[in-house]
Amino acid sequence: MNEHSIRNVVIVGGGTAGWMAAAALSRYLDNGYTQTSLIESEDIGTIGVGEATIPPLVNFNAMLGIDEDEFLAATKGTFKLGIEFVNWGQIGHRYFHPFGNYGHDLQGVHFHQLYLRERSQRVMQDISAWSITAVASSLGRCARPGPETRPRCRG
Ligand SMILES: Cc1cc2nc3c(=O)[nH]c(=O)nc-3n(C[C@H](O)[C@H](O)[C@H](O)COP(=O)(O)OP(=O)(O)OC[C@H]3O[C@@H](n4cnc5c(N)ncnc54)[C@H](O)[C@@H]3O)c2cc1C
Repeated sequence: MNEHSIRNVVIVGGGTAGWMAAAALSRYLDNGYTQTSLIESEDIGTIGVGEATIPPLVNFNAMLGIDEDEFLAATKGTFKLGIEFVNWGQIGHRYFHPFGNYGHDLQGVHFHQLYLRERSQRVMQDISAWSITAVASSLGRCARPGPETRPRCRG
């Protein structure tokens, strides 16, 4: 510690961004002399309406040492496999954006590039057939991937 060391960090606003920043700073500025404070307003509400998140939140929580089971129980959370856009390009059109990877990359070539090449030469299923989260959600199924879980090649 020297005279230029940051001793106080004050976060104004206790919404999603404020509390996530406070959690990260408390974890990584835990040096014995920097104090992180958060000021909440009694008069101004938050936007937060119950957040749906995207996969990087798993890394954020792991970085903070938050146990996923405890997190889900405390927040009454559920798992999300992707986002479905209904009437997006045109009325009646549906697009499901799955989380996770499509298929396997091959020798540095991304799977979707291989898929597009194949599709230019023959009729192919929709690429979502190679996404485990797209297939699971279309079946109304969900399972937490294990540490060794890898997507499998399909013909
Ligand atoms: C209908 C709807 C659905 C949404 N769905 C999702 C979703 O599924 N997934 C997702 O990620 N996001 C979603 N969002 C967006 C998400 O809710 C916001 O982006 C997020 O909550 C914003 O967080 P924030 O911390 O920036 O703002 P806020 O949560 O609004 O927090 C701002 C904080 O600042 C405080 N504040 C403001 N002015 C002052 C002041 N002068 N002094 C002290 N405190 C002050 C307020 O009291 C508040 O606590 C949705 C939003 C809406 C409206």
